[in-house]
Amino acid sequence: MKKKLAFLYAVLFVLFAILLIIKKNSNVNIKEQNDEIDIISNSDFVYGQNISLLLHKNNQISDLDLNYYILCVVASEMPFKFEYEALKSQVVVARTYLFNKILSNGEELADVCDDYNHCQAFLPLEDLERIWKEEKGFSDEEIKKGEEKIKKAIMDTKDLVIVYNGQIIDALFHSSSYLKTEDAKAIWSHADVPYLKSVESVEEEYETSTSVVNLEKQELFNTLKNNGYVENVDNLDIAIHSYTNSGRVEYVKFGNSLVEATILRSLIGLKSTYFTIDDNGKYVSFNVLGFGHGVGLSQVGADTYAKQGMSFRDIIHHYYTDVDIVKMKYTKEKGVEYEN
Ligand SMILES: [Zn+2]
Repeated sequence: MKKKLAFLYAVLFVLFAILLIIKKNSNVNIKEQNDEIDIISNSDFVYGQNISLLLHKNNQISDLDLNYYILCVVASEMPFKFEYEALKSQVVVARTYLFNKILSNGEELADVCDDYNHCQAFLPLEDLERIWKEEKGFSDEEIKKGEEKIKKAIMDTKDLVIVYNGQIIDALFHSSSYLKTEDAKAIWSHADVPYLKSVESVEEEYETSTSVVNLEKQELFNTLKNNGYVENVDNLDIAIHSYTNSGRVEYVKFGNSLVEATILRSLIGLKSTYFTIDDNGKYVSFNVLGFGHGVGLSQVGADTYAKQGMSFRDIIHHYYTDVDIVKMKYTKEKGVEYEN
């Protein structure tokens, strides 16, 4: 009897060991599969509806598939090496931005244009592939993986857009905010936008997180005078006059004149209005934090939060106050409408 029991235990032990080995191997297989590129077929990827895009370079209008447009926008706007959830949030933002442009007839001749100052950045995939390869030094395999990653992000967030009170939002975004985003009301003499409020954005340090602009004071004052922002160039005192609630500069005092920080930013090419000033006598330095206007989603912030485990939904709800994420479709005949 004891022998039989011992034999039974031995059999059970061997079975258990086999099960453990199988489980371990299957884990390895799953992991290996994830490292491979999952190619999404073109027939699965296409949206099936074209949008019209005005290309400013040659002033031509090009009709292209909606999903291809989103792919090129996201690939132009955010590095594909960013976290998957960050890319997904950028996809939803890009789709929302497009639908808002279509609904508001923001473009005269087409649905959207390729100017990032007016619409969203857009470069055709061939141009992006050349830049990634020649300027950024990515391998063909890395580029293929990057494209498939964005395509998958488009498929995984199918039809999702951001609304506030049921209305598609103006999904503003920027490169980085460093600590806090900006309230839309604080800049561009903008009306209050309930979903574009200043929120915390404690970000990791990226290449574009900090920058410095050094200028000769006399030259700076001359530029401001030539553009009609200061009256005279006798008094070369420079001081920050006021801040917005997010801590960005609102006005800078040049001699006796006040200049809006947003105007100064575009005039002398500051990356943002989040800066301190070092007056060194003959020269002046602007030490800048973050990159962009600071309103809405911060891309570096999205990547930082994704690394901390936030989903694309968490990220969107963080940067856009009190919004909902819903499904909407676009057809040439009916325009943008809620999906049933
Ligand atoms: Zn445009």
